[in-house]
Amino acid sequence: MTDIETALEEIRDRGLYRRMRMISGPQGPRVLLDGRPVLLLCSNNYLGLADHPRVREAAADAAMRYGAGAGASRLVSGNMRIHRRLEERLAEFKGHETALLFGSGFLANTGVVQALARPGEVVFSDALNHASIVDGCRLAGAETFVYDHADMDHLEYGLREAEGRGSLIVTDGVFSMDGDVAPLPEIVELARRYDARVMVDDAHGTGTVGPRGRGSVAAAGLEDEVDVLVGTLGKSLGSYGAYVCCDRSLAKYLVNTARTLIFSTALAPPQVAAAMAALELLREEPRRVERLQRNSRVLREALAEHDLPAGAGDTPIVPVVLGEASAAVDASERALERGVFAQAIRPPTVPEGSSRMRLTVMASHTKTELREAARIVAKAVPETARKAAARRLAEATVSATAGKGVFDGLADAA
Ligand SMILES: *Cc1c(COP(=O)(O)O)cnc(C)c1O
Repeated sequence: MTDIETALEEIRDRGLYRRMRMISGPQGPRVLLDGRPVLLLCSNNYLGLADHPRVREAAADAAMRYGAGAGASRLVSGNMRIHRRLEERLAEFKGHETALLFGSGFLANTGVVQALARPGEVVFSDALNHASIVDGCRLAGAETFVYDHADMDHLEYGLREAEGRGSLIVTDGVFSMDGDVAPLPEIVELARRYDARVMVDDAHGTGTVGPRGRGSVAAAGLEDEVDVLVGTLGKSLGSYGAYVCCDRSLAKYLVNTARTLIFSTALAPPQVAAAMAALELLREEPRRVERLQRNSRVLREALAEHDLPAGAGDTPIVPVVLGEASAAVDASERALERGVFAQAIRPPTVPEGSSRMRLTVMASHTKTELREAARIVAKAVPETARKAAARRLAEATVSATAGKGVFDGLADAA
């Protein structure tokens, strides 16, 4: 039996020790962290809806009308009209036939991948996919082929090798630690050619990219081509829970096979009502999305002015790749001393050698706050590391994924 204290010591020695910090108050642009006011640059409350008065009221009202909990799985006695109504609105927003609520994004991914990738088949997974997709692949009876990040030649090689057994290609829409967008048109094209389904996890895409924040799939105009679209209610939609968009027959199949839906309690009414109110606000006020996109550009440009390249694109996920875990932790601690709260991201969340400070922007930040944040982050990164950061940004993705791609060679990362 492994000694727990020894295992913890090993984690500390490798610079990978994690602890939870205490936040007081709602997820606004500024919060109290362990009692100290700081600028918050690591929340997924992208559109400022988690603390919006209408969203809070909807949750409170639902608690008074329907109670605090759903009481059972949806297949038992937990299925209420508000669940169905939110599913209809989400399907309409995303441009799919129907939608199915799940307890969380983690549960949706593990449940859906496990249900769709059956023994004898092969599932294809991007090397930088979210941990919940990795675990879904592990749970599935199918083989897994991990293709190099966004590498379409590698994906095609795998599809060819699978000789018709390829059943599912799964990818993040917006990658959670890098902020880049998956090459969806190419993925869809390969899926068509090799007769596989496409599943996109747009946890970070909804509310941040695409027309009116409808996500990476809508941005590429591929609503009719993507078979399964996963989204979370916990990020832009300011609540908790998740949903899967698909066609009606697939939804029925999931109700009968997705273990994380069948054997888990339905979403609580306040969570459902909060997400519904947030979705309404998102539809009424597209300017929130525009403001978020503008803010993402402001932060990237400000970092570049301080010689801190943070990758292309206008998603709100802005990585400053620094290499070793200790470099990322030191930079994040120094930034915090000066009042900027952004997490150091280390293995196994990202591959070895690509530890980073990951900044996330919210629509509710002001330009001044973001420029100030860039100045403080730049100060927190030593001159040498700053120079190397540019090089590492280019290398990180490549070195992170090189050598993978064997069948069942699942990335430990993510
Ligand atoms: C956050 C996240 C999830 C998990 O969603 P939860 O609702 O928080 O469980 C899944 N996939 C990606 C890409 C994510 O970023």
